[in-house]
Amino acid sequence: MPKNWDKSKPMPVKYWSFAGLMLTYWCNARCASCYTCSSPSAGVDMSVEMGLAIWEGLISASPHGCRIHISGGEPFGRWETLIELIRKAKKAGLKPLEAVETNAYWATDEKIIRERIKALDEAGMFRLKISADPYHQQYIPIERVRLLAKVAEEILGADRVRIRWEDWAREGFNTGLLSQEDRQRVFAAYVLKGRDRLTGRAAVELSQLLPLKPPESFADNPCWSALLRSRHVHVDGEGIVCPGVCTGIILGIINSSNSVSRIWQNLWDNFVDDNSEERSDDIISLLARTGPVALLQQAEGLGYARKPDGYASKCHLCWDVRRWLFENGYFPDRLGPASVYKP
Ligand code: SF4
Ligand code: SF4
Repeated sequence: MPKNWDKSKPMPVKYWSFAGLMLTYWCNARCASCYTCSSPSAGVDMSVEMGLAIWEGLISASPHGCRIHISGGEPFGRWETLIELIRKAKKAGLKPLEAVETNAYWATDEKIIRERIKALDEAGMFRLKISADPYHQQYIPIERVRLLAKVAEEILGADRVRIRWEDWAREGFNTGLLSQEDRQRVFAAYVLKGRDRLTGRAAVELSQLLPLKPPESFADNPCWSALLRSRHVHVDGEGIVCPGVCTGIILGIINSSNSVSRIWQNLWDNFVDDNSEERSDDIISLLARTGPVALLQQAEGLGYARKPDGYASKCHLCWDVRRWLFENGYFPDRLGPASVYKP
């Protein structure tokens, strides 16, 4: 348990309550908004054995007790692994699965949809979450989203099916039918709603649709909350633990000698404990205490050239600098996996 913390203040490193198991980085789509940089050529899958071990570690690491959801990439692209993992987790008495996320690309046939949703329901999935927005619909016909939602609601009940974003799914149209020019116009209108995290591929492909500002505009913007006070983490098939909103930053790696509890405790010991010898050169310390402008300044000393037109947000700035650092071999323990730096 942590010590050395003024209890009248918010807990500086929050316990993790929500964890996404990233079954694969593979995806049939290559959405402009994708912060995991998933695509048909992206690798790194989670095996059933690895998934069970990580799942067990996340829910039993007191006092975390994470609620689990399964995401990707597109987990239905690994259907056999997905259903086996969930069935075995149920058999092992692991906490029920909160949700499975999908883009509905596979939902072409009502019979297959029924079989799969029933199988997931029996295996213990509570909720199905379906992704839909103009970026997804460049690759997936909206009719599949609507068909999947209709059939899943019949089987699970409307309360156990979510579409993100529902307004788009109900009213949107298939941007796959649009010209490139019209698609850019639709993307620009959508990205201005501010629903997208400008990291990963979104930083490359969507930031240009927003007003750009000089990096100094994002000074004095520390990221302690996003990195250390978020209760949400993602874990991939290599055991890499990332903060929920900051893909590409490694909090730790779960393996036979490094448990969930130990990773969390290391964060506490390194960044909170007054008696610790904090590594001031640790990228997490730099970002948490001062934000991406401090990282930019450090990277410029190493040869990074700032973008002359500026950046759309502090996360765009952060991701662009981190990508350069990753490609040049800096912070190898903190930046990865490789696939999220390949937009
Ligand atoms: S946003 Fe989702 S559907 Fe789109 S490429 Fe990424 S994982 Fe695939
Ligand atoms: S600037 Fe970087 S560390 Fe801060 S919230 Fe954005 S992605 Fe995370």
